[in-house]
Amino acid sequence: MIWTSAVTLTNARVVTGEGTAESVRFASRVLAIGDPPRPGDAVVDVRGSFVLPGLVNAHDHLELNHYGRIKFRDRYGNASEWIGDMRPRLADDAAIRKAGSHPLSDRLFVGALKNVLSGVTTVAHHNPFYSELRRDMPLRVLRKYGWAHSFLLQDRAAGARGERGGDVQRRFRSTPASAPFFVHIAEGVDAAASGEVERLESLGCLAPNTVLVHGVGIDAGGWRRVASARAGAVWCPASNMFLFGRTIDPSRTETNVAIGTDSRLTGSRDLLEELCVAYETSSVPPAHLLAMVTVDAAATIRQPQLGRVAVGAPADLLVIPGVAAEPGQALVATARRDVELVTIGGRPILAHPGLAGIFNGCRTRSRPIHVDGAPKVADAALARRIDDCSIVEPGVAAR
Ligand SMILES: [Zn+2]
Repeated sequence: MIWTSAVTLTNARVVTGEGTAESVRFASRVLAIGDPPRPGDAVVDVRGSFVLPGLVNAHDHLELNHYGRIKFRDRYGNASEWIGDMRPRLADDAAIRKAGSHPLSDRLFVGALKNVLSGVTTVAHHNPFYSELRRDMPLRVLRKYGWAHSFLLQDRAAGARGERGGDVQRRFRSTPASAPFFVHIAEGVDAAASGEVERLESLGCLAPNTVLVHGVGIDAGGWRRVASARAGAVWCPASNMFLFGRTIDPSRTETNVAIGTDSRLTGSRDLLEELCVAYETSSVPPAHLLAMVTVDAAATIRQPQLGRVAVGAPADLLVIPGVAAEPGQALVATARRDVELVTIGGRPILAHPGLAGIFNGCRTRSRPIHVDGAPKVADAALARRIDDCSIVEPGVAAR
């Protein structure tokens, strides 16, 4: 992209680690906070809206977001039962087979689109880093990570092309300490689930770079073990409530907790909806929920330059309406149709029509789209990709 100038968002409430500022000036990175525009800047008045760091979704399976929510029992005791119910249907159920027949590039794109429309600028994809993820993605997809699916699927297919879930210990040992190692742990409420932290620890796999996804069945003693190992955790309340009618209470652990959506097979529509579920199912204050999708999530996925608005950091920004005094409160009241602006590395991806001048300022071509009936302006390449995709994202029209 050719930058003619920097952009300054004015009349803003820019949420930084040190408080709130009235403006932010950026190109691909944040150049200044609280300074007036300089001559030649593209100036965009955001009319009192909050400018947040772009959100970080700490857990998704990008290729599994177009099937719809699926379960075959009201409540499960363990994810193994849900997987057991799903497995025969992967071959026998016509709707599931049809959803699986789309090109993997389109399946991954729709997962990425789900995320970026909700203000997510970085997502941690849990499954192989497919070659299709190297191009065509409208947001940052974490590249440096290790993963195993779970103890349940160590020798069984977990990836889109039948890739194994992976031996937990071997995969952990092959992950550098500087990269996060993601694994589903204690995804259930039965005895098998509650024993998994001890099993992980006995294998030498409970370490500061270990990220436990779900942890529903972890008891107080297990959480103490997780905290003393300084491991991280990802909380997916909507998926947990859907399968088990229960989720964790992050305020009862010393562990660093990030929020993830999981895929729409069991999870919420997107990270904004996930935040509503987190707000409703816990006593975690909104300011802490905001941290769980920004700075804490960035720490969990070992990308500390992300998840914050700071001079020198990538200009991954999310602008939302200033409907509350406090940004966390405003965020839990925001749905994707309300999103006013998303930038990644300073590049505008999606904007409210009133802020569409930013595309001209950046000399980026744009096109109108609709999101849940609300008019938006999108990066032209993104709108074209929405048109070309064999999977339709419900509520999104780019023509
Ligand atoms: Zn998952």
